[in-house]
Amino acid sequence: MEQKFLKTNKNNFLEESVLNWESVQDNFKKSFGTEIYSSWLKNISLIKEYNHYVILGVQTRFFRDWITSRYADKILGELKKHKMSINRIEFKIEGEPVDNRSVFSNTSENKITDIKDSVLNYNRLNPDLNFDNFVVGRSNKISFLSAKKICNELSRYNPLFIYGGVGLGKTHLINAIGLELKDTNNVMFISAERFMYQFIKSIKKNEMVSFKEFFRKASVFIIDDIQFIRGKEGLQEEFFHTFNSLFDKKAQIIISSDRPPNKLDRVQDRIKSRLSGGLVVDIGVPDYELKLNILKKRIIQFQKSFKENPNLEDDIVNYIAKDTSSNIRELIGIFNRVIAFSKMNKKPLTINDCKLILKDVYNSAKVISIDKIQNITSNFYSINLSEMLSQRRSRPLARPRQIAMYLAKKLTTRSLPEIGRKFANRDHTTVIHAVKTIEKLLQNNTEIKKNVEELRSLILKD
Ligand code: ADP
Ligand code: MG
Repeated sequence: MEQKFLKTNKNNFLEESVLNWESVQDNFKKSFGTEIYSSWLKNISLIKEYNHYVILGVQTRFFRDWITSRYADKILGELKKHKMSINRIEFKIEGEPVDNRSVFSNTSENKITDIKDSVLNYNRLNPDLNFDNFVVGRSNKISFLSAKKICNELSRYNPLFIYGGVGLGKTHLINAIGLELKDTNNVMFISAERFMYQFIKSIKKNEMVSFKEFFRKASVFIIDDIQFIRGKEGLQEEFFHTFNSLFDKKAQIIISSDRPPNKLDRVQDRIKSRLSGGLVVDIGVPDYELKLNILKKRIIQFQKSFKENPNLEDDIVNYIAKDTSSNIRELIGIFNRVIAFSKMNKKPLTINDCKLILKDVYNSAKVISIDKIQNITSNFYSINLSEMLSQRRSRPLARPRQIAMYLAKKLTTRSLPEIGRKFANRDHTTVIHAVKTIEKLLQNNTEIKKNVEELRSLILKD
C-alpha cells in the first residue's frame, strides 16, 4: 500500500514536513493533560511524514502497545488538526536493543514486567508479605522502622542491610519494601541464588551485556540471602560491579543476610565494607508477646479468608506462643497444624490435645521431610516410590501421589514450588491442584479420609 502510494503521488515530497512537531507536542500536552503527556507522549518522535500517514518513534514495544491501545485514536485526531490529510499512524520502536524490549516503562505503570525465559523471569514479589501483615515486636522493631524509613527517604541509608536467623522475617520485610515502592520505582527483587543462576545462564548464552544492563536499570535493588555468595569468586566479582554502579547512580540497595557483614567469611573485604557502609540492622528472636500477636493476626486472617472461626481458645493460643520454638516460620507451621487438627476433630481443642500435637511436632519437626512423607505414603499403598513420582497418570499411582503432595503441604513448611521440585520437578500449580483435589475428597470420601488420617499419624509417629 505505502509503496504504491509513494510511487503514484507525485506531490508526495512537497507535502512532506508540514507538521511542526513541536507544536504538535504542545497540543498533545494541552489535550491529554500533563500527566499522560509526560508519562507517555513526550518522547514520541516524528520519524517520517507522508501525505496520508506518519511514522512515529517510541522507545519500547511496551510503550507502543500501551499508546496504541489507549491513545492512538486521539493522537490521530490531534494530528489531523495540524494536517487534515493524515489518516493513519504507524509506530516504530527505536532505541532499544532487541533483547531489552519492553523491559521497563519509564512511568508509574507496570514497573515490573515479567517475561518468560529471560533475565527478567525472577521478579516475584509476594503480595502477602507486606507491611500490614508484618507484626512488630521488640525483636524486629528497629528493622521494621528502618525498612519503613527507607521507603520514605530513598537512598539516604544505602545500602540497608538486614540480618538475622532463619525464619525470623527477613524475606517478609524486604519483600514488603519492594511492594511499597514498586509503583513508583523500578524495583528488582532477587535472591542471591537466583542472581547467580541468571549470571551463569547469561555467561553460557553470551548475554552478559544485557544481564549487566538489566540489573543496572533498577532504582531499587533488593537482594535476598546474600550469604549465598560466600566462596563464589566470579559471582562476587559481578555482584561488586553491579553494586557499585547501582550505588553510584544512587539506586537504593537493600540486602538480607543470615549474619552481619563482618561475619561473612569467604567474601571479599571490599564487598564486606560496601555492605556495611549504610545502615546495618538485625532481626532478633521473637519474644512471647510477638509470637502471641503473630498468632492473633493469623487467626484474624484465617477468619477472613475461610469465613469460619478456627476454634482456638485463648489458653491454647497462649500455650502455643509460650511453648514453641522461636522461629516464626516454625511457629506458623505449628499453628497451621493445630488448626488442621481442630478442624478434623470438629470440636475445640483442649490444652491436652494441644500438648500431644506439639509433642508430635517436636518429636518430628526436625525429621518430617518430604522424603519421609513420600516413603511412608508409597509404602502404605504398596507402590514403588519411583512409580509414585513418575509421570504416569493412572489412578492407583496418581491418588497416592496427590495425597503425598497434600501431606507435604500440610505437614511441612515447604513452599509449593519446593514441594513440586521434590515430586520429580512438577510445577507448583500441580501441587495446588493435588491439595485441592484431596481437600475435596476428604469431605465426602470416607475411605480417603481414613487413609489420610492413618498416613498422617504414621508420619507424625516417630
Ligand atoms: P527469613 O527470610 O528470615 O528466613 P521469612 O521472612 O521467610 O524469614 O519469614 C518466615 C515466615 O514467618 C513467613 O511466613 C513470614 O510471613 C512470617 N513472619 C516472619 N516475621 C513475621 C512478622 N513479624 N509478622 C508476621 N509474620 C512474620
Ligand atoms: Mg528468607
